Order: sequence, then C-alpha cells, then structure tokens
Amino acid sequence: MLIFRRRNTPPLLRHIPLLVVFLVASSCVNAQWVSAQWSVMGTSATLEYWLDDNFDSQKNNLPPNSTLDDPIVVEVRDEFERLNLLLSPWIPESELAQVNARAAQEAVTISPEFMALLKKSEEYFLLTHGAFDISFASAGFLYDYRARKSPNAEQLKQAQQLIGFEHIQLTNNEVRFTADGVRIDLGGIAKGYAIDQAVAVLRQHNIAHAYVALGGDSYVLGDRRGRDWQVGIQHPRNDQAVAMTLPVSDIAVSTSGDYERFFIRDGERIHHILNPGTGTPSKDLVSVTIMTERSIDADALSTSVFVMGPEKGLEMINQLEGVSAVLINPQGQVTYSDDLAEPSTE
Ligand code: ADP
Ligand code: MG
Repeated sequence: MLIFRRRNTPPLLRHIPLLVVFLVASSCVNAQWVSAQWSVMGTSATLEYWLDDNFDSQKNNLPPNSTLDDPIVVEVRDEFERLNLLLSPWIPESELAQVNARAAQEAVTISPEFMALLKKSEEYFLLTHGAFDISFASAGFLYDYRARKSPNAEQLKQAQQLIGFEHIQLTNNEVRFTADGVRIDLGGIAKGYAIDQAVAVLRQHNIAHAYVALGGDSYVLGDRRGRDWQVGIQHPRNDQAVAMTLPVSDIAVSTSGDYERFFIRDGERIHHILNPGTGTPSKDLVSVTIMTERSIDADALSTSVFVMGPEKGLEMINQLEGVSAVLINPQGQVTYSDDLAEPSTE
C-alpha cells in the first residue's frame, strides 16, 4: 500500500487501489448520526451529521437518526432547491435561463448572488487561461447525452465563435452578451457553491461533524468523531468500485469525471466536460479530484484541470496554496500534486 503525506500536515491519503463515501454502517448503529439522501440539481444529494449532546433535540424537535424531515436536512434541501431555481438551465424562469434568453438583446439586471458567481467564473477563466469558461455552453447546449446527440462540424464551427469570456460583459449589476447565440452554464461551479451554502447552514447550527455531497462534490466538516472521514474516488470505468479512498477532515473534495454524463459512439466517449477551444469533450484525463478549503474552488478547479490536462493542470495546482489534486489518465495511471508527497515508510 502506498502511503501519502501532505507536506507539513498529518497524513491525508492512505489507500491507493471515486465520489462515494463510506458511511460505515454508521447511521444505523449510532442513533445520533442523522443522515438523508435525495435528488436535486440533476444529481444525488447526501447529508450526514452528528447531532451533538449539547444540542437540545427536544427543543429543536429533532427526531433521532432521522430522514428528510429533520429540520437541518430541510434547511439544506430548501437551499439546494433555491439554488436550482436560480441556476438551472432547464427551468425557463431561472436567472440563468433568463440571462441566456435576453442578454444578447439587452443588458439584464441580475441579483448580487448571480453576479458573484459570474465574477468567480471570470476569475477562473483568467486563472486557467480559458480552460474554465462558462460560455462553453454556446457549444454545450448542442449536446444531449440522453438522446445521444452531438453537434456536427458546421455547428461546432459556428459555436466556437461564441465561446470566450470576452463575449460576456459585466457591469455593476448587469450582464450583456456581445452576440446572438452566446450562452452560459454554471454547471462547473454551481454544485460546489451549493455545498458551501450547506456548510454555512450546518455551522449556523453549531454542527461540528458532517458530510455533505452533491454528485461528485462534497465537504467533510470536522472529523467522523475521532476518525477521518473516508471519501472514495469513484472508479472511472466501474461505477460499483472505488478507485481510492481519501481519509480527510475539514476539507472540500470535488471530482470531475468523464463518466457522469456521456454516451459512446463508434467507440468514442462523448461526455460533458468540454474543451472551450473546440467545443468537444476533453480527452487527456478521465478523473480529477481536487481538495481545498472551499467547495466552490474545488468544483471550478476539478473541471479546469480536467480540461487543462495533466501537465498544465498540475503545474497550476502546484502553484496554488492549499490545493491538492489526484488525477487519473485514460490508461488508469494516477498522478498527484506535489503536496501529496510519498513519505519514507510507515
Ligand atoms: P461533474 O458534473 O462530473 O461533477 P464537473 O464539476 O466537472 O463535473 O462539472 C461538469 C459540468 O461543468 C458540465 O456538466 C458543464 O455544465 C460544465 N462545464 C463543462 N465544460 C466546462 C468548461 N470548460 N468550463 C466550465 N464549465 C464547464
Ligand atoms: Mg467541477
């Protein structure tokens, strides 16, 4: 077994052999673990938290070892629903859909929250030299993974001219697109943001031990009462298997994989993480996991590194403070950021 150590910090990675978490039969064994799972934002949400002795469950009317009706679970569910109504490209009334429908014709006034997400996206566009680009959607909307549909060469050529942050003009509280056909999608950052919002809810309630996940994005708050949380990286080619397990606490863990939404045509995997330069699926990696303090950053960076590829991706991560990465290439080889260095022996 390879054992990895985070420089200057306690061991982070212990096992080598995706995001799946081992809930270790916990929720049933201990009455004070509250856990729930539901569907939202086109994926599966999980929340597990430790209901502390100090917490007056009587007063707060919390059922033990509860479910979807638990008040904190309800608060997190409501927040995820609110964000879905704000950011979904599929809901015509969402702020995102409204911007896509109108911003080429007129400057559209947007909420401070939506503006903050656009600004964050612009930051990542600049940092990644265009690998992270929310206007990938100018080509992205031409794909329908369920219907096995992808754009032809002519459609791609037209769409390529509509990709690039230079087509998105932001002022104080308005957004405007420079051309007809420009579209944006926040799918590379929205789940991470939602997780950070959930963690804020948990902290408000003085929850000290929790795991919250939306598809491949997760956050572990505190430890699992004396032990690390075991966050697994899904095996990219076997959805029943875990490629490796990361013992972690107090950190956001996000995985981007080419197995989340895809179809295979003529042996080629057509998936949902697109190279903004071409408008076609990025091929250099099959899975990228990022660990860092905030989930919005982990989410944006996992998508970014996936597009940048192993060399440029790791080079960027190694220059960022407090960010770790685990990459899997199409041959199944695993590489790491420099901070996950191999220790002598243990
Ligand atoms: P997952 O959906 O597997 O969690 P990601 O966090 O990488 O993976 O998010 C993928 C989503 O990011 C896509 O479904 C799409 O909405 C968006 N996306 C795809 N390509 C890009 C890109 N180059 N830049 C920004 N967002 C992207
Ligand atoms: Mg991401």
